[in-house]
Amino acid sequence: MTASRVNIAPGGLPASADGAVIVPLHQDHPNASGLATSAQKYAWHSLSREEPPKRDAKERQADFREIYQLFDLETVKAQAARCIQCAMPFCRLGCPLSSRIPEWLALVAEGRFLEAAEISQETSSMPEICARVCPQERLCEGACLLLERAEPVPIGAIEKFINEFAFEHGGATAARVMPNGKSVAVVGSGPAGISCADALAKLGYAVTVFEAKPRAGGLLVNGIPSFKLQKEVVDRRLDLLMRRGIIFRHHTTIGQDLPLAKLLEEYDAVFLGRGAQHARKLDVPGGNLKGSCLALDFLIAQNLGPASNYPSVPIEGRQVVVLGGGDTAMDCLRTAIRGGARKATCVYRRNETHLPASHREYRNALEEGAEFLFMATPLELVGNPQGEVTQIRLARTEFGEPDAQGLRQPHAVPGSDFFIPAEVVLVAFGLDPTPFPDSPEWLDIQVNELGGVAVDENQMTSVPKVFAGGAQVNGANLVVYAVRDGYRAAAGIHRYLSGKA
Ligand code: SF4
Ligand code: SF4
Repeated sequence: MTASRVNIAPGGLPASADGAVIVPLHQDHPNASGLATSAQKYAWHSLSREEPPKRDAKERQADFREIYQLFDLETVKAQAARCIQCAMPFCRLGCPLSSRIPEWLALVAEGRFLEAAEISQETSSMPEICARVCPQERLCEGACLLLERAEPVPIGAIEKFINEFAFEHGGATAARVMPNGKSVAVVGSGPAGISCADALAKLGYAVTVFEAKPRAGGLLVNGIPSFKLQKEVVDRRLDLLMRRGIIFRHHTTIGQDLPLAKLLEEYDAVFLGRGAQHARKLDVPGGNLKGSCLALDFLIAQNLGPASNYPSVPIEGRQVVVLGGGDTAMDCLRTAIRGGARKATCVYRRNETHLPASHREYRNALEEGAEFLFMATPLELVGNPQGEVTQIRLARTEFGEPDAQGLRQPHAVPGSDFFIPAEVVLVAFGLDPTPFPDSPEWLDIQVNELGGVAVDENQMTSVPKVFAGGAQVNGANLVVYAVRDGYRAAAGIHRYLSGKA
């Protein structure tokens, strides 16, 4: 983010470009317990936004450790003090969890980190994780009112700081509550399942989480590489959940190791949070050549190692081409670079402006040496006599006329074919909701137009007692939306089982 120029009106108040004085909306607002002092209210126009320290790109290429470090104490306080405590805090509207951002920022500005973390934890079962993986530019920070005049408050980095501080200083706890005598089975231990389980455990439900893989965490550990979210951070959160009394059963696939009917018999309600692990395939000649791999399979094999039972694709010294332009594509590029790829190139059919990946991840991939080929689409994978991919035939693309929705779809330009070398091709075209197991007991659960599970306003499916949420319902989306859905489902389950609003 570049620094914006701030104009000063006569009298020293910040002003808009045309010289009009900008009066902070919050001036008389009793928000955040009145913690923001007058000096703090204007801190933003004398202090630019700072980013948290980031490790050097060369150093990052050599390991999988997280790339961002924490603010120091003074910087975090000063950056939090840039918040003008808006009477209408748009940042909260931008946050899918409606985090009480101005309140905890005001406390941070005063150095009251544990109290700030407590408030941040009230609306999220994993604030330290969302703070790491949310694309804040599209969410809380993208909605920050300061964006119109200067640069937004670095909300994500501050939220990470306070929650790390809480873990360090005993402020991240997991008290058990009095059991209410009811039990819930949660299928899937990704962000939706974890949030639903956590919210229900806080209400006294006995919760068991069933996970098909050898370790819990779902997408948080399988799909997101450690340089964005270290596995220890997820394990630390899971440990808290276990201390709250939640039981995890690994290596248990519902519909295979245990029928859904068994859960319905033994538990008062079932939550389905099986995610979106159905990858869209590359449908071109040669798509099945050796060396071509689905992005999610590649990431799971890299993230979990041999325990994953996913075949690993050799990367070292090879030319890797990633097809697609989302965050998963960026994760593949950066994982390939760390795995020693000779070259890692992203091929995307639109231009840089339309890249769906977050700007932050795109920038980080560029810094680490990834290359980008925009306005190109694959036509064919070409192989050698051993059946190994060696090249991709691509076509240039151009935007067509606007469609009914006003969108200009890219299409291949006839006769524009060209080849690029590729020894590994990673297909990152997106993920659809995980399909149901092939068994009649799932047939009564209706699906929606996205191919996910259809739910009502309580997140209940067409089968009584069975609820669903997250990517299982809406397809692959941000972690923070899955957290929100997990909470919604927990509220729906509680209403259903307790008869209470
Ligand atoms: Fe921002 Fe995500 Fe935290 Fe909400 S949960 S405040 S969107 S970082
Ligand atoms: Fe603070 Fe920005 Fe939120 Fe306003 S919108 S309360 S300045 S973080």
